[in-house]
Amino acid sequence: MSEEEDQQTFSDFALRESILKDVAAAGFERPTPIQAACIPPVLEGKDVIGLAQTGTGKTAAFALPIIERVAQSMEMAALVLAPTRELAQQISAMFEELGHSSGIRVATVVGGIPIEKDWKALVSWPNVLVATPGRLIDHMESGNVVFNDIKVFVVDEADRMHDMGFIPQIDRVIKDLPEDRQTLMLTATMPPDVERIARRNMRSAVRVQVGRRSAPAERAEQQVFHVNSTGKISLLLHLLDDGDGRVLVFARTKAGVDEVARSIRSRRYRVDRIHSNRTQIDRNEAMAAFRDGRTRVLVATDIAARGLDVADIEHVINYDFPHAAEDYVHRIGRTARVEASGRATSFVTRADGRYVAAVERLIGDKLPISANPLGDDGGRPERSRSGGGRSSARRSGAKRSGGGRSSRGSRGGRRGRSGKSPKTTQ
Ligand code: AMP
Repeated sequence: MSEEEDQQTFSDFALRESILKDVAAAGFERPTPIQAACIPPVLEGKDVIGLAQTGTGKTAAFALPIIERVAQSMEMAALVLAPTRELAQQISAMFEELGHSSGIRVATVVGGIPIEKDWKALVSWPNVLVATPGRLIDHMESGNVVFNDIKVFVVDEADRMHDMGFIPQIDRVIKDLPEDRQTLMLTATMPPDVERIARRNMRSAVRVQVGRRSAPAERAEQQVFHVNSTGKISLLLHLLDDGDGRVLVFARTKAGVDEVARSIRSRRYRVDRIHSNRTQIDRNEAMAAFRDGRTRVLVATDIAARGLDVADIEHVINYDFPHAAEDYVHRIGRTARVEASGRATSFVTRADGRYVAAVERLIGDKLPISANPLGDDGGRPERSRSGGGRSSARRSGAKRSGGGRSSRGSRGGRRGRSGKSPKTTQ
C-alpha cells in the first residue's frame, strides 16, 4: 500500500457523520485496502467486482457505501445474498452496527428460522434485506417480496455460492430485479460460472483486487503434520493441551465432526459443533458460545469455513485435509483476520497427497511440513520428511485508509410471509 493510502481515514470518503460515528464506535480507525478500493466506486453508483479473501474487511467495504446510498434516498433499498445462514446473519449485524445512527433498518431472511419472523421483518420495509438464496426464492414464489425499490444488489462470497450450487438461484433472483440497479459481487476466487454471471449481469464493472488471487490468509503461520488416520485424535488432543486460545477444527463429514467433538469433550474441553444436521438455533448458540469464550473449541464442517467472523481464533486445525483446494484457503482465513496473526495446522494422511498438491498449486507455495510431535508420521504422502517445529510465516498488510461525509436518511422496502429452508450442504 502506498504511503498516501496508509494515511487515509474514513473521513476522506463522502460518508455522513452518523456513519463515521458508528465506524468509530466499531473501533475501525483506518479503512482496510479493500475498503479503500471499494468505497469510492460504490458511492458513485458503479458496479464493482471485489476480489478479496475473508478477513480483509470486505463486509464493511460494501456495507458503508450502501448505508450512505440508501440513507440518501427514500426510494432505494439494497438486497444482499449470502451463501450461508451464519454469514447472512453476520452481514446483517455489520449493517446494523454501522447503520445504527443513520436509522438504517435491516432484515435477515434465512432458512431454519420460523417463517413468522420473516414476515415481521419484511413488513417493516427494511432498507437492507440480507438473505440466503433458498429462503428468498421461497418468498419470491409466494409473492411476499417486491423488488421494485432494490437499487443495489450484492452477491457476497460468489465463489462459495457457486460451490454450493446456488448459481441457478442467483440467476432466478436477478431476473426479478429492476434493471436500473447497481450490482456488487464479492468473491475470493473467480470460477468461470461466476465470471459468466458477472459478465451477463454487470455493467462495465470496476474490478478491485486486494492481495494475490487465491492467496491464503497471509498472516497465518501454516504447518502440516503427517499422521496415520488412527493417530489423528491423539495429535489433536496433544495440540489442544499445548495452548489455551480459541481453536476451530475442521472435519470433512457431519459424523466426523460429532466424533471429534465427543473425543474433545471426553478430555473436558469446552467444545461445540456446527454442521447442517444441527438446527439453526443450535448453530447460532454454538457460534455465540464460541464468540464469547464459553467454548474454547468449535468443530465444524466446511459450512463454517467461509465468512464466519470470530475475533482471535488462535488456531485453525484441518483435522481432515480439505478435498477442494479453495476450502483450504477459506478455512485458514478464519484465523489471522485483519491485523491478528494465527496458526493453521493440517493433518495429512497418506491418502491426502493429491489434495495437498492441489492446494500447493493453488497457493503457489509448498506447505511447510513439521515433525509430528507424537512421532507418528503415518506414511508421509508424496513429499519427504523435513524439520520439526512450525514454519512459514507470511505477512500481508491488511492496512487501512479512509474518508468523508455527506447527506441524510430514510428507507426502502418490501413485504412478506411464508417460506422453507434453503438447501444446506454440510
Ligand atoms: P470481513 O472480512 O468483512 O469478514 O471482516 C473481518 C473483520 O474485520 C471483522 O471483525 C470486522 O469487524 C473487522 N474490520 C472490518 N473493517 C475494519 C477496519 N477498517 N479496521 C479494523 N477492523 C475492521
